[in-house]
Amino acid sequence: TVEPAWEREDKYHASFLTQPDEALDFAVRNSDANELDPIAVTALQGKYLNLQARTIGAKRILELGTLGGYSAIWLARALPDDGELITCEYEPKHARVAGENIAHAGLASKVKILVGPAADSLAKMDPANKFDFAFIDADKAGNPVYLEYCKKLVRKGGVIVSSAGWVLRGVRAVADGRQIVDNTVRQGRVSDMSFQDENSKGVRKMLEDLKNSTEFEATTLQTVGEKAWDGFTYVLRV
Ligand code: SAM
Repeated sequence: TVEPAWEREDKYHASFLTQPDEALDFAVRNSDANELDPIAVTALQGKYLNLQARTIGAKRILELGTLGGYSAIWLARALPDDGELITCEYEPKHARVAGENIAHAGLASKVKILVGPAADSLAKMDPANKFDFAFIDADKAGNPVYLEYCKKLVRKGGVIVSSAGWVLRGVRAVADGRQIVDNTVRQGRVSDMSFQDENSKGVRKMLEDLKNSTEFEATTLQTVGEKAWDGFTYVLRV
């Protein structure tokens, strides 16, 4: 198989911009050993989240969708000593593996994993205790609900990043201008109305809500990289 240019490009950039990292490697190995899906953010995306959180001096970070804690490690490393990351995960097994990975990274004291549907955990949070930064990366069907909670829970001037992840994904590679697709092709599902699955509909509804909101300003950036097609909606709480 041809290594697509965007995979090669990610690896090349990562070789300059990221360091060998025992804790992140352990997280990937332990997640694989426990058969978690390999759908965490890439190293460059994780670093993007880390830099973004540091840029705004985030002290309290919210994450929805922990999986094995890979992005949580990047985010927690952005925190000052007295900072806190609260991450919500539906699957107890994912939460257990994430707990192991986060502890191995020496970050257990800064990270709290809430197990259960993210919407239930969000409903119990105190809006007086605001977050500076939120990363929404759970089920995309829930995005409109998660965004609504972020209105209350993220401070003005705070940032929300929502991953499009596997809603956009499906195109495995583009090499030499050719699209190489596999049998899970779901290219550009958000804008293709022939897809009426709950995740695509969730992202569409989130965009509609952003359009009508006076509390948020947002943009979407599509990305390609090691994990093929992806994208982030970047939201400023105004
Ligand atoms: N943020 C992770 C990373 O980059 O390392 C990847 C998260 S993965 C794309 C999505 C995760 O969201 C899965 O672990 C899944 O079990 C979890 N999830 C799905 N629906 C959820 C829900 N309703 N509440 C909380 N977590 C949910």
